[in-house]
Amino acid sequence: MTKQSWREKCKNQASSQDFTAIQDYHKGSEKVFRLHIPEFFKNNMDLTNPIDPLLRQVLPSINETKVHENFSDDPVGDLKSKKSKGVIHKYKGRVLLIATGTCAINCRYCFRRNFPYAQNNASANNWHSAIEYIANNKELHEVILSGGDPLMLSTNVLSNFSSQLNDIEHIKTLRIHTRMPLVSPSRITNNFIKWLDGISLKKVMVLHSNHPQELHPILKPILNKIKSTQTLLLNQSVLLKGINDQTKILTDLSFKLFDFGVLPYYLNQLDKVQGAAHFQVTNKQAKLIHKELLATLPGYLVPKLVEEIPGKKNKSPLN
Ligand SMILES: *Cc1c(COP(=O)(O)O)cnc(C)c1O
Ligand code: SF4
Repeated sequence: MTKQSWREKCKNQASSQDFTAIQDYHKGSEKVFRLHIPEFFKNNMDLTNPIDPLLRQVLPSINETKVHENFSDDPVGDLKSKKSKGVIHKYKGRVLLIATGTCAINCRYCFRRNFPYAQNNASANNWHSAIEYIANNKELHEVILSGGDPLMLSTNVLSNFSSQLNDIEHIKTLRIHTRMPLVSPSRITNNFIKWLDGISLKKVMVLHSNHPQELHPILKPILNKIKSTQTLLLNQSVLLKGINDQTKILTDLSFKLFDFGVLPYYLNQLDKVQGAAHFQVTNKQAKLIHKELLATLPGYLVPKLVEEIPGKKNKSPLN
């Protein structure tokens, strides 16, 4: 399908009124969070289905313009925890680096949709201030590359980082949070695999899939290649109204992830970011779904149901 006709399809589904209102809302605003979808993810959509779960994750909606009480631009308190350029040290022993501001895909529910990326980017000065922070904090044992999507960076840039990290004795683990292998698998080049393979730290990759339809069979050998580098593959999902808020869908997702060599890790309750309230599932419903997952799946395929409470030193289980 051509770009043009696909846009038309989206427009028809969202109603042209919605699109005009969204454009007006963004006019002159710095908060533009534009429609942005990689080809591979797009091709996994069923465009004859107006409520396709992949389309719903990326299609702008008029609901984003409604301001909700209890929702904010920085719902997880990232700005408060910022220590240095792109460095977020909130959790004990591990530090998160905002490696880059961009992603291959713009997910409408993302808690970073209003985050001022440009000023908060750890790779911008050759990682200098991030490495300095990590080297000076001996209690750290794990570095998490997040974003944006760290795999938006070239393998050379990643390699520059990992070689600097390698020299810091107290760092034992490198973790990468990315949607890239699942939404734009061509990024997983042989060169990338070679880089990953060459890292002597313990390695964890946390993928982000919300729905079994995202797991196209051609991803299996790609994930296998990543696994062959001794990288532990985990997945986190966000519980999203109208997309995956059903036990059956999440059960299928867990089994499919396992089939692809990935273990479910977190099922996140939505972060209360302004513009995403229409994706919110109530805590009551979330707990009910999680209870049903516990009753259906083997324990190792049940993701932990968690929420991020600003100021808390860890993700909080929803009990
Ligand atoms: C979730 C998160 C982490 C990692 O937490 P784990 O519970 O170890 O997965 C680290 N830093 C930030 C800012 C996070 O949001
Ligand atoms: S950070 Fe993750 S959830 Fe947010 S837009 Fe990027 S890929 Fe999507």
